[in-house]
Amino acid sequence: MLVDLHVHTSVSSPCSQIEPRLLVRAAKEMGLDALCVTEHEELEGAEVARRLGEEAGFPVFRGVEVYTECGDMLVFGACRRRYPVTTPFAELLEEVRGLGGVIIPCHPCRGSLGFHHTLGEEKAEFLLSSVDAIEVRNGGSSPESNQAAEVYASHYGLPGVGGSDAHFIMQLGRCLTVFERDLGSEEELVEEIKAGRCRAAYAAEIEGLRTSSLWR
Ligand SMILES: [Zn+2]
Ligand SMILES: [Zn+2]
Repeated sequence: MLVDLHVHTSVSSPCSQIEPRLLVRAAKEMGLDALCVTEHEELEGAEVARRLGEEAGFPVFRGVEVYTECGDMLVFGACRRRYPVTTPFAELLEEVRGLGGVIIPCHPCRGSLGFHHTLGEEKAEFLLSSVDAIEVRNGGSSPESNQAAEVYASHYGLPGVGGSDAHFIMQLGRCLTVFERDLGSEEELVEEIKAGRCRAAYAAEIEGLRTSSLWR
């Protein structure tokens, strides 16, 4: 199952120009099987896209991209409706653990020298031993940054996931997560990530993905 795990819409990410109705149509036309909407600090856009997905018979799962002092984190299965501008990582982790969700650092090596350099040894080790997966394919990051994230994933034995981080419709699906099973619910999304039954990919590596008529 091909899932773009990281998409922003214009509903609650002012930085995005993606209208949710077009998003669902484009994802279907491309041959994606599902997508996750992950607005900054807000659940609303994901709720809207999920409803539109239901009408169109296309699964949209809800997430949020939460800013912490350790960088941006994707959260699934344990989202608040709204987060403050910065949420302490330890607080977010405790909450996500308590609610049975997953927490995933996204674009962890974009424009940085990595966790240990940015956070210091102790905090970096705490972070990497606490999270459920790492985003190792991010559509808005350089191949070198994605490669650096992959080194972390393999060193710490963490599943690697991928998402486009699309803010414009043409960016949709640039990076993806390939799940071994079909996902019928957000609970299953969480379960499969926790079990590591997924891998990250660039769109170019996936046979059969089409371009949407929306950007012809
Ligand atoms: Zn981000
Ligand atoms: Zn993002």
